[in-house]
Amino acid sequence: MAIYKVGVIGAGTMGAGIAQVISYNGIPVVLKEVNEEFLQRGLNTIRKVYEGRVAKKRMTPEEMEEKMKLVTPTTTYDPLKEVDLVIEAVPELIKIKLEIFKTLDQLCSSGTILASNTSALSISGLGSATKRPEKVVGVHFFYPAHVMKLVEVIPGLETSDETAEEVITFAEGLRKLPIKVRECPGFLVNRLLMPYLNEAVLALQEGAASMQEIDQAMKEQGWPMGPFTLIDALGLDICAEAGKVLWEGYGERMKPADLWVRMQELKRLGRKGGKGFYDYSQGGPTDPGKSDPALEQEIDALRAKLGRPKTRFSPERLMVLLVNEAVLALQEGISSASEIEIGVLAGLGYPASKGGLLHAADAMGIDALVDQLDRFTKELGFRFHPSHRLRTMRNAGHLGVKVKRGFFSY
Ligand code: NAD
Repeated sequence: MAIYKVGVIGAGTMGAGIAQVISYNGIPVVLKEVNEEFLQRGLNTIRKVYEGRVAKKRMTPEEMEEKMKLVTPTTTYDPLKEVDLVIEAVPELIKIKLEIFKTLDQLCSSGTILASNTSALSISGLGSATKRPEKVVGVHFFYPAHVMKLVEVIPGLETSDETAEEVITFAEGLRKLPIKVRECPGFLVNRLLMPYLNEAVLALQEGAASMQEIDQAMKEQGWPMGPFTLIDALGLDICAEAGKVLWEGYGERMKPADLWVRMQELKRLGRKGGKGFYDYSQGGPTDPGKSDPALEQEIDALRAKLGRPKTRFSPERLMVLLVNEAVLALQEGISSASEIEIGVLAGLGYPASKGGLLHAADAMGIDALVDQLDRFTKELGFRFHPSHRLRTMRNAGHLGVKVKRGFFSY
């Protein structure tokens, strides 16, 4: 079944971005909101992206108007009757989403695919609210949707292969990089990213290094920005919420650092509020944040209260945790090795020169990686426990680049 017409529910941050991408690729899109004001706000967001392209002379004003005509705004469900695919992008509240999936199930033709852009809710759960769970799938775009290439396509327990393949083909048609991700808490990218960010916060909380030192060290590893700058950009509340989902899903090894809660109590939610780990209140939106002695005092007070010993920081502390999580995802069959690498490069911004996390493991040597994880397990805790797959590879002599055989062959 080809997808000729799409519906998007919600014209907020993600919905407007997704509708822009779809219209840009010449596909008509029905955009639904709750009222005219929010609908207009969404249309303005779309127009702004197009105006940016016009300003850069990538399209003419006439072409922009043609693309805008492909977007049909609505505050009712009726125009969604005729679409082949609906992408729901309303707030992350299960009650609202379930309601919408029930409504769409009754309204849309039996062939219509119902997709959700949820970051954390269960796709299988949404499917079970309908009489067509085989046609319900996760399609997770990243912010900003018109820039980020990666799309996670998440089949639920009952999603048919055909539905997943149709959505993957559709996303490829939008010139995106779709990867198939089996349903698990955090899907692939957030499952990898959040423990990495949490480890940076733990290192700070435990007095291992300052946030500037940690940010600098990770930038020297090739990351486009340090973890604290990234947390501030994403929003501490958003990260903390994602962290809770992972803790619930994976248990103690993903327990969030206490400092997340303290930061929220202090209302330091990141760049959007002027202060997060860094202070942005004096500068413009693109200025780098400045350190803040008041926060350093807060962190010292928290450390004293928790009474835990000081730990050591090294970039490997964050890196091997991240690599091990990627191997765990592979071991569980969440995605294939090559899809994990695409997710890491296109979704995490991991340095392309390193080829991805599994390539990094091969380059490091699987034996050295297991040794390092064992050392960190003793020093810092069970969250570093090496995945079974790594031990098996070491035992089998699949040690990576040096023997031309690891996660990939060389
Ligand atoms: P948002 O709050 O910016 O926008 C949601 C919009 O949905 C609002 O404009 C709201 O009026 C509208 N809405 C609510 N109920 C509706 C209904 N019944 N019909 C039509 N519209 C309705 O939210 P967002 O940040 O765009 O997030 C949307 C989804 O995308 C969430 O599930 C979120 O987890 C996910 N997501 C967000 C990001 C991000 O960076 N913001 C990234 C990836 C995925």
